[in-house]
Amino acid sequence: MKPAAGRTMKFHGIDNMEDYHSFLKEILVPEDKLQARIAELGKQISHDYKDAQQLLLICILRGAVMFMTDLSRHIDVPHSMDFMAISSYGAGNRNTSGMVRITMDLNTNICGRDVLIVEDIIDSGNTLAYVLRLLSTRKPKSLNICTLLDKAERREVEVPIRYTGFTIPNKFVFGYGLDLDEYYRNLPFIGVVDLERYEG
Ligand code: 5GP
Repeated sequence: MKPAAGRTMKFHGIDNMEDYHSFLKEILVPEDKLQARIAELGKQISHDYKDAQQLLLICILRGAVMFMTDLSRHIDVPHSMDFMAISSYGAGNRNTSGMVRITMDLNTNICGRDVLIVEDIIDSGNTLAYVLRLLSTRKPKSLNICTLLDKAERREVEVPIRYTGFTIPNKFVFGYGLDLDEYYRNLPFIGVVDLERYEG
């Protein structure tokens, strides 16, 4: 979850990596399935961008970092990478709102570039809608989205997604880049949090 500006989060006392077993409801996407799908996406992207001159992958920090680095290793056309950090505010702990701001901008001039935004999860769509609006003012040659996870039923704002890893139900997930109050991004799978147990 992107930290909301001006709000402190309750620290849940994670002392030990194994603590997650007590609130892991289920493993939604196991590591082998995750990696197989990322390899497929990489193959598809390599095919679609085979004639691109200047493909640029933009990782939305921090959640997409694992996905982007693994995906990149399956893309066999030349590409560069840049990173952008976003903060959302004005909504609850596990929700975003339409209010989004850039906390770290790109270093790259994207004018005339084929740009592929790499995101961890699209929920309401507010964050990506904002990023798309912003980046399209910079006149890229093309601008597309690749998301690992899509919580499609939660959408409030339509965003055109070119590549989706998995469409998932409306459950709060963590692992593989997605955090639980900034922890557990390093788990190799996508798990569902039992929020009652975790927050209870
Ligand atoms: P949106 O703006 O589409 O509502 O939210 C997108 C952002 O919300 C994601 O980049 C991610 O930071 C956060 N998010 C949405 N759903 C989840 C979830 O189930 N788990 C985690 N850890 N973050 C989520």
